[in-house]
Amino acid sequence: VHPTATRRPYTLTVQSEHTSYTDEHITSKFTNRGANVSVVDGQFLVTPTAQSYEFQTERNVSKTGLLMIGVGGNNGTTLCATILANRHNITWHTKGGIERPNYIGSVLRASTVQIGTDPSTGKEVHVPISDILPMVHPNDLVLGGWDISGVPLDKAMQRAQVLDYDLQRQVAPYMALIGKPLPSIYYPDFIAANQEARADNLIPGDNKQAHLDHIRADIRKFKATNDLDRVVVFWTANTERYSDIIVGVNDTADNLLASIKNSHSEISPSTLFAVAAILEGEPFVNGAPQNTFVPGVIELAEREKSFIGGDDLKSGQTKLKSVLAEFLVNAGIKPLSIASYNHLGNNDGHNLSAERQFKSKEISKSSVVDDMVNANHLLFKRPEIGPKGVPVGKGEHPDHIIVIKYVPAVGDSKRAIDEYYSEIFCGGRSTINIFNECEDSLLATPLILDLTILTELLSRVKYRKGEQTEFAPLYPVLSLLSYMLKAPLVKPGTDVVNSLNRQRNALEAFLKACVGLEGSSDLLLDTRIW
Ligand code: NAD
Repeated sequence: VHPTATRRPYTLTVQSEHTSYTDEHITSKFTNRGANVSVVDGQFLVTPTAQSYEFQTERNVSKTGLLMIGVGGNNGTTLCATILANRHNITWHTKGGIERPNYIGSVLRASTVQIGTDPSTGKEVHVPISDILPMVHPNDLVLGGWDISGVPLDKAMQRAQVLDYDLQRQVAPYMALIGKPLPSIYYPDFIAANQEARADNLIPGDNKQAHLDHIRADIRKFKATNDLDRVVVFWTANTERYSDIIVGVNDTADNLLASIKNSHSEISPSTLFAVAAILEGEPFVNGAPQNTFVPGVIELAEREKSFIGGDDLKSGQTKLKSVLAEFLVNAGIKPLSIASYNHLGNNDGHNLSAERQFKSKEISKSSVVDDMVNANHLLFKRPEIGPKGVPVGKGEHPDHIIVIKYVPAVGDSKRAIDEYYSEIFCGGRSTINIFNECEDSLLATPLILDLTILTELLSRVKYRKGEQTEFAPLYPVLSLLSYMLKAPLVKPGTDVVNSLNRQRNALEAFLKACVGLEGSSDLLLDTRIW
């Protein structure tokens, strides 16, 4: 047991031959059921499959640090200030009365799962998701990070203009203790030119190897100084432009490391941070849309067995889209077009007003309905199959456009306007319009917490399959984080699931599997039979 590891009470016990508990571990047996399908002469031949697994979760929650790149921005300062408000139980006055700190918007801290039924009442029993397995409490995270802007965090929080004045006033002295962000890496070509005035807190020079070494040393020092077991490194800095994928430069792990040595111009700051975390054996999560995870980074993470997750926080418009598009398509209604407009006035919006940075966001927002559309060939024609069995063209797809405009006056309060135009029964048309207005950073911050806490948890889970004797860590690309991410990074060669419901079901089923429970049963058979 780490002497300072958090021992918040863990209250769930599964009484079953499939689940066993020791002081160190929770071990569960789980059968993964599926089906193999082949098509023979137009007939579907379906064969049920069952594969046995064992999961082993370390019970002791790591003492965890969160190092944010972009800690001085709206998300970074809002996250630090709200954790401090929660930790010190700071209440504040608004014109509506007294507000109390909370973790609303965090799936882990503010939502529940059905864990079973109370036989005495026949009623379902729900528990907080965070009760299924031991998880870090956000109040216990040790906070720090880098920013190219050297404004100390109390002043940076003021600059962000997100939190109520009375909360800012009280939390400022605690923010001042975190102080000035660590100096960071700034390659002007990767973020919008309009950010240059902020860049006054930089690691000197332009040698990328030296920059990598510097960041690695920062991570090590933070870990040692705060006596941590785990440091999650999290990109919540400005959206960068896409990096070109160049053969010989960033296509393999070795080429990437060599390109860093040569200070190749196409290596972005976010990729350098990811490489630093991977080489330090600490998880890295990308909360912005750019392609930080070039193929060389993924290969390096595989080689080092270091965890990565991304891309881009799924806070508002896209989250709703992944629900609405699925609802329409699964209801047998055919979306013909989805038109999405945003305007926002914070620094993120300023950066996204530049063409190349907007492009990164546009890509990340674009593919969110693809899997729903591809799953329904009754509504959307599949591509023709060419002579060699290769699909020709892309098949039918709703028109989908994304527009983002910078409107300084609205500040952090983002407006998202979406029109869903669909074909309904026998030639009819339906139009759904959504107007969504929300404080952007107050949606994003709980996602950063969820991603950090889940990442730490998943780094404690090991598995063995079938007859394997050794437990192994999970695959480095943590696709179980998809619920919180707009463009989920998945194991190369596997399909992305965008449906929010499926993403949540996967997470719930996985957490339950780790304690030896089957996934949620909406079958409710008792209620359907005599
Ligand atoms: P922000 O502009 O307020 O903060 C970004 C911070 O990053 C700034 O303080 C900036 O100085 C710093 N920065 C830029 N380059 C850096 C570098 N190389 N190293 C260290 N610091 C650097 O933006 P925000 O609103 O906090 O959003 C942060 C990121 O999260 C953006 O990329 C945004 O697109 C993404 N995001 C935000 C939301 C949301 O709802 N807020 C949703 C999805 C994604």
